[in-house]
Amino acid sequence: MKTQAIKKVVIAGGGTAGWMAAAGLSKLLGKTIEVSLIESDEIPTVGVGEATIPTLHIFHQLLGIKEPEFMAATNATFKLGISFENWRDIGKDYIHSFGFLGQGCWAAGFQHFWLKGRQQGFAADLGDYIPEHLASRVGKFAVVANQERNHAYHLDAGLYAQFLRVIAEKNGCTRIEGKIKDVNLNPENGYIKSLTLASGTEITGDLFIDCTGFKGLLIEEALHTGYEDWSHLLPCDSAVAVQTKTVGKPVAYTRSIARDAGWQWRIPLQSRTGNGLVFCSKYMTDEEAKQALLANVEGELLNEPRVIKYKTGTRRKHWNKNCIAVGLSAGFIEPLESTGIHLFQRAIIRLIQMFPSNGISQTDVDEFNQQTKVQTDAIKDFIILHYHLTDRKDTPFWRYCRNMDIPESLAHRMKMFKESGKIFRDPDDLFGDTSWIQVMMGQGLMPEQYHPIVDLMSDIELQNFLDKIKTGVKRKVDSWPDHNDFINHYCQSNQA
Ligand SMILES: Cc1cc2nc3c(=O)[nH]c(=O)nc-3n(C[C@H](O)[C@H](O)[C@H](O)COP(=O)(O)OP(=O)(O)OC[C@H]3O[C@@H](n4cnc5c(N)ncnc54)[C@H](O)[C@@H]3O)c2cc1C
Repeated sequence: MKTQAIKKVVIAGGGTAGWMAAAGLSKLLGKTIEVSLIESDEIPTVGVGEATIPTLHIFHQLLGIKEPEFMAATNATFKLGISFENWRDIGKDYIHSFGFLGQGCWAAGFQHFWLKGRQQGFAADLGDYIPEHLASRVGKFAVVANQERNHAYHLDAGLYAQFLRVIAEKNGCTRIEGKIKDVNLNPENGYIKSLTLASGTEITGDLFIDCTGFKGLLIEEALHTGYEDWSHLLPCDSAVAVQTKTVGKPVAYTRSIARDAGWQWRIPLQSRTGNGLVFCSKYMTDEEAKQALLANVEGELLNEPRVIKYKTGTRRKHWNKNCIAVGLSAGFIEPLESTGIHLFQRAIIRLIQMFPSNGISQTDVDEFNQQTKVQTDAIKDFIILHYHLTDRKDTPFWRYCRNMDIPESLAHRMKMFKESGKIFRDPDDLFGDTSWIQVMMGQGLMPEQYHPIVDLMSDIELQNFLDKIKTGVKRKVDSWPDHNDFINHYCQSNQA
């Protein structure tokens, strides 16, 4: 049985998620549906989601967003990966870059060829076989026509919401200023009927998108959907954030520096840097976290440090009755691999693909929830990997992470890689082989053997093969301009 046709969509909340949903729905479905967004100036946004992954191109392409315009408007820089410092152990660093690692064959990925080359003593560092890895280290960047776009951005979350708001309003979305006071349910079926604002105005709708942040005003406080708590696997539950003036040239990667009870981020925008410390409150107080962060930032402080509390996990259903949670209201996997905005975008695109114009069917709802679950579970495993696979034993936090039980799916992947260097990607995995290899090896997991097909090559053939790839990567990156010069010509921000 279906509900009535969906004509009127109401988005509650105007943070990153709300304006992404408003821009997407109004641009792509605005001719057939009415879209409105309610936000309250009294309730601040979280406003710290500032590092992204390359999938954002898909969303921007759908919306017809021009990269230089978007980057200038959001004070953005390019991001080619993440530098993980002190994660494997103190003083041991590696980069997880975007892009593809070398070139393998049908039976064995490039890592097998590299492993034998390393054993024989002639392979270079793994990163020398990935253009994005080398470019991030030497500070080079280019956007090349017809080339796969393996870059992401560091952006200002507040400016990004403003940028998307212009697109949404241009495409007919109505913005309503006001604080939602009550969520009114239809007593017959429990569906959301309307939202009452503090002013007394009642806003009715057929479909409601909950973008109200952690509290999930509609999906949780009204519909009691429930939350799956992942704190035992990802124990950090707090963050303290502060902005500073950018010192020197911004680098084309995010820095993630492991600390005693969590990790610190540095996200370089054109004119300022986003800094934060993600930590576990069991091992560190808010005040200790503030002091630890302030002792490790560069440049003039631009605001007061702000503490944010959260519970890592996911809403039991992201679509419940006529309400879909997008953003922090749907759950939160901590920001280590910058997957937040990606998940918002996936939910919006999935909703557009499955849009219930003729009414909501439980089959669609179940499918939506199932696809969402599979995708978030795969991301969760990848994030746990960073914490669990460590040699650090120096603090109670790291000892907990090393010893905690991990999901069977992750244990299997690690075991297979260790025993044979093999990686098999599930179709729903967000992170590809290159990502898994870089993080597993970066955290110290080296396969015990390589695939025997590599032995079809003589040592000299293998050496030539590896050298050719490395030289090609270097030649390519050498031809790119300096990252900062490129930004100045391509997308200089008016804030810089
Ligand atoms: C510490 C931290 C770091 C993060 N870093 C990243 C990152 O680097 N990359 C990434 O992709 N993601 C990151 N995220 C996740 C996510 O991208 C950001 O947190 C993002 O800003 C969340 O946006 P949101 O719209 O879901 O929530 P919010 O920003 O909280 O917005 C909620 C909106 O709802 C409105 N609202 C709430 N209640 C009411 C009400 N009663 N009436 C009317 N309006 C209401 C508010 O006014 C606001 O507009 C991070 C999250 C955290 C906590």
